[in-house]
Amino acid sequence: MKIIRIDLSEKSISPDLITKNSKYFLLGARGLTSQIVFDEVSPKCDPLGPENKLIIANGILAGSPFPNSARTSVGAKSPLTNGIKEANVGGRSAMMLARHGIRALIFENISDNLHILLIDDKKTELIEANEYKGLGNYDLHTKLYERYGNTIGIYSIGPAGEYMMKSATVAANDLEGYPSRHAARGGLGAVMGSKGIKAIVIISPKGSKAQMHDLKKFREISKPFAVNLAKTKDTFSTFGTPMMMKGMSNYGGIPTKNYSMGSYDDIDKISGERLHELVVKRGGKKRLACCPTCVIKCSNLIVDEEGNHITSSLEYETMCLNGTNLMINNLDSLANIDHYCDDTGIDTIEYGGTCGVAMECGKIKWGDAQKVIEILDKEIRNNTETGKLYGNGVKHIGIQLNAKRIPEVKGQGLSAYDPRVMKAMGVTYATSPMGADHTSGAAIVGRVPRKGKNYGEYFDIKHKLDVSFELQVYTCVMDTMGICYFVGPSYENMSILAKVINAMYDLQLTKNDIINIGINVLKNEIEFNKKAGITQDKNDVPRFFKTEASQPMNLKFSFTEDDLKNFWDRLDNYVF
Ligand code: SF4
Repeated sequence: MKIIRIDLSEKSISPDLITKNSKYFLLGARGLTSQIVFDEVSPKCDPLGPENKLIIANGILAGSPFPNSARTSVGAKSPLTNGIKEANVGGRSAMMLARHGIRALIFENISDNLHILLIDDKKTELIEANEYKGLGNYDLHTKLYERYGNTIGIYSIGPAGEYMMKSATVAANDLEGYPSRHAARGGLGAVMGSKGIKAIVIISPKGSKAQMHDLKKFREISKPFAVNLAKTKDTFSTFGTPMMMKGMSNYGGIPTKNYSMGSYDDIDKISGERLHELVVKRGGKKRLACCPTCVIKCSNLIVDEEGNHITSSLEYETMCLNGTNLMINNLDSLANIDHYCDDTGIDTIEYGGTCGVAMECGKIKWGDAQKVIEILDKEIRNNTETGKLYGNGVKHIGIQLNAKRIPEVKGQGLSAYDPRVMKAMGVTYATSPMGADHTSGAAIVGRVPRKGKNYGEYFDIKHKLDVSFELQVYTCVMDTMGICYFVGPSYENMSILAKVINAMYDLQLTKNDIINIGINVLKNEIEFNKKAGITQDKNDVPRFFKTEASQPMNLKFSFTEDDLKNFWDRLDNYVF
């Protein structure tokens, strides 16, 4: 496997082999992006300047048949949090990179002109791409298919990335060919824009250079695991993440009206069940995989009444932040907001949080979906002053409007779980080196990191520091393997991972070795942030979560400063 460095000011491309003795051998995806940022990026640098690096990496299981193992991590110093950041995404390309024998791409320095990086069997080259300037992801991908064929893999940015807006995403094309998958959080699309990379295009290789020591042994472990996973996740496969809408509203923990409420009267109009009915009735698609090897297939494809594609995939977090949070009670409006976010290349979570603050400050009327779409399509797309106000995240607009309630941690907007009610999720928001990011340790109701261990009620603080900690470590492991965390960040799954990695790479790793991979990645991320000025006393949630009780649960965020400040002391001596 190799790492390819692309220097945008020199226009040079140089590969480095990863050998068995390399420190990067057992690092992939988030583990590798964070290690490279730690090793090579100055913590104090301007995230949009030449000293930052953008790393795109697949996991160490990429190229194997392990279920849901074909995700890509995008990493850099974040312009949104000013700390280390990784966001991962499905799509076609991680598997294609692995088959080319590529573990990671590192983009260095910056360029004023736009380029495409083209990867095929014969060579990797930079191609001038100013003709694609300003294009949204949908038009861009159509043009790239016309030029390079329909089977290519793509990572790209929309106009928001080109304008270096801090909510900008890196898009990836899905298996149906839509630019629907996004490494969305942390503004990494802005870093890609600063490098002058409009798209990375991967032509499918003829064979595969992915390493596999003992495929028979690998399959003996991975196949029954995949079969069981598909069986146990059947309901989730049918309804996907939107199935949480109604449950979260019933629990009183769904952010509503900029976190002033935790339940929504119109939840039945935008529930997962209602979305399912609408998709089936109109002939949309359910149970879609967003990347090769996925056996859970939780994604959907939404069409309008005439059967035309609106968006794919509409997820819980998008529906919540742009639905309940903005008092928008119409599924077509939510599908369209998702479409325009995907097209302009804006994080749906950050955008919904941003509009929530704007609505509370009277800049947009509650429930005005048309205005929310117009800002994306007219203002952000054209980089107007209004576009800049809304394209740079929750914290930015909150400061500009002098808002009283700004739902962000370390510069990043909270996702779709009220931290007063979903206590362990609140701990993840407060402590993750990634800012308020549910994917760092998604402590949703019913998810336990270890079978048989009592973690208490979801709304009670008892044991929640442990839940968040264990989930953050196991998720870091899954992220390093390039596995979707819906497979289950659990103690039990660490043993499975040790066995398949041993079969793939001819090693003798134990479960503890695997857990240590996650611990070491987190240590690097925390250390980088410390040098960047994001120290452990910054582990907290906004004050209003501690002073205003959630409604109707009447709960406050009640962890102490010491609970949060000393949270990561566990990394050295925790008994899992
Ligand atoms: S479970 Fe869902 S999010 Fe995860 S890889 Fe499969 S389709 Fe993508």
